[in-house]
Amino acid sequence: MKTIGIIGGGQLGMFLAIAAYEMGYETIVYDCKEDCCAKNIASKFVLGSFDDEQKLESFAKECDVITYEFENINSDLVKKLSLKYPIVQTEKPLVLSSSRLNERKMANKLNINQPKWQFIESKEDIKNIEITYPYLLKSDSLGYDGKGQYMINCESDLDKVVFDNVVYLAEKKIDFDYELSIIACRSINDEIIIYEPFVNDHHKGILNITLIQQAIKPEILKQANQAIEKIMADENIYGILCCEFFIKDNKIYFNEMAPRPHNSGHITMDTHYISQYENHLRAILGLPLGTTKIKCSGFMVNVLGQDVDKTKEFVQKHGSVCKYYDYHKEAKYNRKVGHLIVFDDDYLKYFKETWK
Ligand code: AMP
Repeated sequence: MKTIGIIGGGQLGMFLAIAAYEMGYETIVYDCKEDCCAKNIASKFVLGSFDDEQKLESFAKECDVITYEFENINSDLVKKLSLKYPIVQTEKPLVLSSSRLNERKMANKLNINQPKWQFIESKEDIKNIEITYPYLLKSDSLGYDGKGQYMINCESDLDKVVFDNVVYLAEKKIDFDYELSIIACRSINDEIIIYEPFVNDHHKGILNITLIQQAIKPEILKQANQAIEKIMADENIYGILCCEFFIKDNKIYFNEMAPRPHNSGHITMDTHYISQYENHLRAILGLPLGTTKIKCSGFMVNVLGQDVDKTKEFVQKHGSVCKYYDYHKEAKYNRKVGHLIVFDDDYLKYFKETWK
């Protein structure tokens, strides 16, 4: 039986381990936290820092194929390991997606439309900024879910920005009509599939609600699908790739990418015949990819620490139309601790109005 190594034991690692188990594989999860949520699902767990070369190497020796479920892993180390061990995705997508600057340069190179941007290395650079208000300042690395981001509407907003040892990307604020995620998957046999688009509602920078969206205008879908295919081909990406776009006046603006299963694709576990997790595993194992066909409608609601009580109340009352996934995490404010899939679109209005 083949053993799949998963670097990272968060909820994405947990869902990968569940899919692997269902497909008949063993898993070894590697994480720096003893209480990570994938630990109890995996066949074996290795506790170690993401910089510990020796530990990572002895973990890699036990695996037939290795994947990662988050971006902020030491890419030099992954590069070194992938020369000796089967880390199919390699370090290349990590170099890209762990730096907003690298992502922006890539989109420029591939002629993918994106918000106007400028690299800000110091407080001095702000004086020469060419982007007009309003704009966002986003830390180049380690920023996600709106962390390390400031909305700058006027000069005084800059007072709250911490510049010490942080480099930023200034980005024109797009007054978008909606946000789209495209999830694609490429196998080591170069088979490519693309799921129907997902429309994301964010609240304070954190993904709030995801809908499956089949009614996107064909010209928008064409631009977005062409962009993700270009990125996969040019950057040699294997496995799942998720790209997020802002849509404004029938035009796409590339926002960011994640070379791994993505939060907005959790819904595929329930609404699609083959989930993003299974397709990611099939891709790295060299198996034929599964259909992207939708089997039923539904939407996903992210559950943050502060939402747990109201989620449980909803499940108690409306259990017949929903399914709750608990990540077994301590319920902290703004921490993603679960998600809810609701199979009846009539409840969407309720969540849009109350889930903020
Ligand atoms: P990010 O971490 O870059 O995905 O940003 C988190 C959320 O902030 C996005 O999903 C958007 O809702 C919002 N956001 C980020 N960049 C922009 C932008 N250039 N214009 C408008 N909204 C943005």
